[in-house]
Amino acid sequence: MQKTTDQTAVYRPSRLEDARPILRSLLRGARLRCPACGSGAMFRRYLKVSDACPACGEELHHHRADDAPPYFTIVIVGHIVVSLVLIVEMAYRPPLWLHAMIWLPLTVALALLILPPVKGALVGLQWALRMHGFDPNSEVERIESVEEMSGSGPAHAAQAPRP
Ligand SMILES: [Zn+2]
Repeated sequence: MQKTTDQTAVYRPSRLEDARPILRSLLRGARLRCPACGSGAMFRRYLKVSDACPACGEELHHHRADDAPPYFTIVIVGHIVVSLVLIVEMAYRPPLWLHAMIWLPLTVALALLILPPVKGALVGLQWALRMHGFDPNSEVERIESVEEMSGSGPAHAAQAPRP
């Protein structure tokens, strides 16, 4: 698409600006891949999101997954484990020590296994929705960082440059 010269001065589109389908981004994140290209690794360590995609260079440090991944992991693992506990209890009525031997390690293992794909999916979702700094045209991220640095509120934010 051809852009008019007046607009390009302030308009800074990313290369993949127009292609951010939510489901695709979410699934790529769940496979621990960059939501933009689907090939670069999203994480550089177990739960540490890379600052930028090693394959396409898309900035990933804008994510604010915070405590949403553990929250959704607890919901998912809870539903799986509690269901299994009830099924096994109703069918076999094993002693409590056997319950503990089975479910405690399984709960820990499942949580550790599910946490990265859940976090990846959430980062993919934030990217697809252009939340936080994922929108290349947003001034919000810059204004927020100015506020953090100056330690004050809207008075300083008002001084942030406008397009
Ligand atoms: Zn990428």
